[in-house]
Amino acid sequence: MRIIASLAVSFWLLAVSFFSGSHPAASQAGQNQAVSKPQSEEKVDSQQLEANSPDDLNRYRLRTVVLDAGHGGKDIGCSGRSSHEADVALAIILDLGRRIKEGYPGVRVIYTRRTNVFVELDERAAIANRNHADLFISVHCNAGPHSSHGTEVWCMGPHKTEANLGVAKRENAVILQEKDYQRRYDGFNPNSPQGNILFSLFQSAYITNSLRLAQRVDKHFRTSVGRSSRGVKQAGFIVLWKSTMPSILVESGFLTNPTEENYLGNKAGQQAIAGGIYSAFREYKHDLEGGPAE
Ligand SMILES: [Zn+2]
Repeated sequence: MRIIASLAVSFWLLAVSFFSGSHPAASQAGQNQAVSKPQSEEKVDSQQLEANSPDDLNRYRLRTVVLDAGHGGKDIGCSGRSSHEADVALAIILDLGRRIKEGYPGVRVIYTRRTNVFVELDERAAIANRNHADLFISVHCNAGPHSSHGTEVWCMGPHKTEANLGVAKRENAVILQEKDYQRRYDGFNPNSPQGNILFSLFQSAYITNSLRLAQRVDKHFRTSVGRSSRGVKQAGFIVLWKSTMPSILVESGFLTNPTEENYLGNKAGQQAIAGGIYSAFREYKHDLEGGPAE
């Protein structure tokens, strides 16, 4: 009950701030700007040096992105006949990071892991928060019956179907492998429907921009990458829970589907998925910054 009571209070506070006039849709970019960035902690990069003209001082810039390869180490995630989710997710994330660094040398790219190591779910969000990230992208692979296939792009939010809750529960169940998970997650039980519903209400302040990016990723998966898409969805993912910036979780396909496993287990497929996310990232960044058409 303690967890439910404290989550209910948090949601009430969230609702109060929502109805007291700061509408997330109207002020999302502003909220990102409002995150305090102590100068002493920030490396002066080329973007900051460029931002000296009066015009630029008031302009939102996407400066830092945190890239999160799901699972790793003792947690291999889901598996196909020969591929493991942890490896596929890492390959996609590293390729995505390389593209962002090449395309935008002024953007800081931070990885929650770059090798096959275990990282707790709350630590992944904490890395993004500590670095005042403007965006958090988590990549995973899906599991289901052999015939299930297609990409999904997730944002935090109340789930609409039991199947959606099922995906979040599978991804959240990894905390059972973490030491001390009850303390780390305020007693949250990944198998409790009530817990899933209540904590899915976090992240509401960032939902507009999270959905904005998610829709672009989904569009590129369907068009330029040519994947079959299961759409943009919402549910409560612990890895997105405490991040204080727009955040999405990409299910890049089903390793349990032999055709999709072949695609995702292959470098060309991994690069195509990373390319789709990168195209969406470019559009999202351009949209928020309001720069000249590229
Ligand atoms: Zn996963």
